[in-house]
Amino acid sequence: MKKIIFLSCIIFFCFNSFASNKVDFVSVKELPSGEVRITFKLDKVALIKSYALDEPSRIVVDIKDSMYQGELDSRQNYPLKKVRINQDGSTSRIVLDLYESVYWKKPWQVQKKDHVLLIFEIKKDKALKKNIRDIIVAIDAGHGGKDPGAVGKLNILEKDITLLIAKELERTLRDTRGYNPVMIRQNDAFVDLNDRYQNARKVGADIFISIHADAFRLASVKGASVFVWSEEASSITADNLSKKELVTNPEVNSKIGKLNVNDFDEDAARTLYQLAYEAKIENSIMLGDKILDQLKLDPYTKLHKKSVEFADFRVLKSIDIPSVLVESGFISNPEDAARLKGKPGRRMIARSIFLGIHNYFKEKPKPNTFMDPVPSSVEYTIQKGDVISEIAIRFGVSVDEIINLNNLQNKPIFPGQKIKIAI
Ligand SMILES: [Zn+2]
Repeated sequence: MKKIIFLSCIIFFCFNSFASNKVDFVSVKELPSGEVRITFKLDKVALIKSYALDEPSRIVVDIKDSMYQGELDSRQNYPLKKVRINQDGSTSRIVLDLYESVYWKKPWQVQKKDHVLLIFEIKKDKALKKNIRDIIVAIDAGHGGKDPGAVGKLNILEKDITLLIAKELERTLRDTRGYNPVMIRQNDAFVDLNDRYQNARKVGADIFISIHADAFRLASVKGASVFVWSEEASSITADNLSKKELVTNPEVNSKIGKLNVNDFDEDAARTLYQLAYEAKIENSIMLGDKILDQLKLDPYTKLHKKSVEFADFRVLKSIDIPSVLVESGFISNPEDAARLKGKPGRRMIARSIFLGIHNYFKEKPKPNTFMDPVPSSVEYTIQKGDVISEIAIRFGVSVDEIINLNNLQNKPIFPGQKIKIAI
């Protein structure tokens, strides 16, 4: 009996710490661009799972540890048939019944002053045979604004290097069909460490990549490494680096601030969602391995460690989003500083990350995306100023491979043109 009371206390306590999240239906609106936007209101940021099903076509959005009072069964216009919601234990389940397949955007959460909006969009697309969405990659350029990160040789600042690599990666992902990159910071702005992983959750990121370029007191230390979150560090260097991320400079540090009351508590969730957390670590290691495999092929970059390392890098602590941190090198080392100061060196880091991400999804195809099944080639949209030799470098293929696959012999390329690249 004592045990039961004790257990129910624990359940009540755990449940109670999350259960205040009330779900309300707000609206269904057709946007001028043709998308249909569905909006719900939450008390705070939630753990959300979403997926699409076919025959009959529908999209399901599960809001964990939340409560919807009453029942909703609202008829809508084409391509949306109905919006339904019901309560299954501590999960509120939203179902969109559809007339046919749509291109859909994963739900995202927008923090307002005293509540959170949960938004998702669908758009009819005659070309689609099943419900499809993009893979969302959160790109976190380390440091920024008042926090310069490490200061290296040749007067380079870590925050500038990380943003340039992030932008290079963003560009490749943006112009490759099926990927949607989201930058945690777009410019030289300061972003708190909490906000970095919280924002990844809010945008519905499928994976999270944090980019750094650190310094060490010994100028001889050099090379790139890849990290996955763990409370225990796998080496002394790993431990030092992760500690330094917390206090880069006593005046302007990246210290973890207080969580916003509407934010999601990853630490509390880790004990509740043990399985999700274990899968996240396993997937993070796989993603890290894939990026390392590519870094090994990069002629510019030497590796500091040949296998994935572990450290308490707070930005990686999301309980369910596979997250890795790429240290692109030590800017305290003259060779690494010169490599990362130049565009070719930075481009190679971005390429290794991109190909690593793609190879990860090849091995772990994401349902409802262009990566399931994984195509034998990706579709790239030519941008203004593109030349084939540069595209070839960014995707790690030869110029001839691109020309032959797309029959481009003696033909010019033009912006907006879609080409295939076998990767
Ligand atoms: Zn850093």
